[in-house]
Amino acid sequence: MAQCPQCRKEIDHLDYVEERTNVGSVGVEDGRLAYDEESTPEIDVKYTCPECASNLAESEVEVKAILGVE
Ligand SMILES: [Zn+2]
Repeated sequence: MAQCPQCRKEIDHLDYVEERTNVGSVGVEDGRLAYDEESTPEIDVKYTCPECASNLAESEVEVKAILGVE
């Protein structure tokens, strides 16, 4: 089983939080607000230890390394 590098407890999974931020622009068109349709979502993912809540990884590559997946 995998071990948390911070608290040293054995873990079989990580918790994750995915924050999606939509960034675009808004202007005026015919007297009304017009939103830019081509907004680009910025996605921020954090993987944390279920035991101590330490932030352990920011990518699946790091998650695989912690959980021992090849
Ligand atoms: Zn931990």
